[in-house]
Amino acid sequence: MYKIVSFVILTGDWMIHSNGLALSLDRKEKGATADFISHAHTDHIASAKSSKNVIASKETVELLEEFRGISINQVQLPRSVKLLDAGHMLGSKQIAIEDENKGERIIYTGDFQLQESRACSRIELESADTVIVDSTYFDPDIKFDPREETESAIQFWTELKLMSGIVLFGTYSVGKAQELIAILNEQGIVPLASKKISAASEVYIKNGVKLDYASTTHNRDDYDQLIGGNFVGIVENNSVRSISARLNSNYRKQVFTAVATGMSTMMNFNTDVQFALSDHADFSQVMEYINSAGAKHVFTYGQNAALLAGNLRKASYNALPYMGIETALNQLVKE
Ligand SMILES: [Zn+2]
Repeated sequence: MYKIVSFVILTGDWMIHSNGLALSLDRKEKGATADFISHAHTDHIASAKSSKNVIASKETVELLEEFRGISINQVQLPRSVKLLDAGHMLGSKQIAIEDENKGERIIYTGDFQLQESRACSRIELESADTVIVDSTYFDPDIKFDPREETESAIQFWTELKLMSGIVLFGTYSVGKAQELIAILNEQGIVPLASKKISAASEVYIKNGVKLDYASTTHNRDDYDQLIGGNFVGIVENNSVRSISARLNSNYRKQVFTAVATGMSTMMNFNTDVQFALSDHADFSQVMEYINSAGAKHVFTYGQNAALLAGNLRKASYNALPYMGIETALNQLVKE
């Protein structure tokens, strides 16, 4: 058992030091010998441009190079390191490190979820002595519905609204947009995607994900027919309002707007409807993950690290916000 004696955030590096590696986790760190990039979302790729030694999946490297236009210097996976699927988006990985000196195993999750997505591999769960878990959803009161329910609600609402007008979804251009395309495809709906969403979708298709959509850069023979009737558009979150107004004036049809994001549980997006389609773990999934790993130590990572650690401690986990394993362990005193 450990007793927490201090919660002071100490400065220090945020890397994992193990087997001669100084490994940065989704951050740019001075002195890192390798930089792990868990997936291609912008808040995880700070080291991508400058790193000479990137550890990432093949799909993440393709998204960074072909969609984001960053050329990547990938390093061969060190012997003590293994990548595990994280279930968050195409190519998203956790990293497992075997510390040969201490005989311990550490897993850093990156963004992850336990539910199955349509456009990426399901999470791989393995055991670890220490886990470093993403802290996006820290509040025990936020609970995502089973994914099938959210997907059915999206399909039902879209079909209904298509009877009387155009449907416009706002979402993240990479990850969620492709989920949404796959959900709509199941209903036989071929949505129109923005140029940016189309570019990200090309990398998904190249990696075997089936997506059927139209865009100005991904032409289909039936493009004119598609925009001739009521259609579904998918654009980035921040352009829903402006594009909705444009569609309304160009086509003289009612435009129904929606967002598809887990953030729907916390924010108002001023659309007709909000769907909490999340690619993150909620608090109960975080606990399920820790239990499944059988971890003795839990560190929380990211913007809400302190809040998640606090809520996990209330649920009797030995959890602390991450600031580098060594630094964090110095805050614990063995009873
Ligand atoms: Zn992410």
